[in-house]
Amino acid sequence: MIDCLFCKIAGGQRPAKIIYRSSDVVAFHDISPQAPTHILVIPVKHIASAREVQSGDADLIGRMITAAVQIAKEQNLDRGYRFVINTGSDGGQSVDHLHIHILGGRQMRWPPG
Ligand code: AMP
Ligand code: ZN
Repeated sequence: MIDCLFCKIAGGQRPAKIIYRSSDVVAFHDISPQAPTHILVIPVKHIASAREVQSGDADLIGRMITAAVQIAKEQNLDRGYRFVINTGSDGGQSVDHLHIHILGGRQMRWPPG
C-alpha cells in the first residue's frame, strides 16, 4: 500500500471538498487555489503521473477529461478555463498522483510560469 495523499482523498481517508465522484474519477477543490475556481480531477486508481499512463488507461483518461469539461460547465466558466497536468519536477508536479487542474474565473496568461 503506497502512502499517497490523493489515493487517501479518493478513498475518504483524508478530507477534501469533493464536488464530483464516479466509480473511477473524483474531483475536489484545490487546497491552495491559484484562480477563483481551482479544482483537481483525479483517477481513483493510483497513476503516479502522465508518464505512467498506459494505452489501457485511454478510456479512464477520456472520462477524466469529460468529467472536467462537465465540472467547468457546472462552475459557470463560460468565458473559458485552463486544464493543466504538471508532470515531473520540471513540470512543477508536487503530488505524485495524476491530476488535471481546472483553473478558471480569471484571465490566464501565456506563457505560463
Ligand atoms: P501539482 O503541483 O501539479 O502536483 O498539484 C498539486 C496540487 O495539489 C497543488 O495545487 C496543491 O495546492 C494541491 N493540494 C495539495 N494538498 C492538497 C489537499 N490536501 N487537498 C486539496 N488539494 C491539495
Ligand atoms: Zn495515489
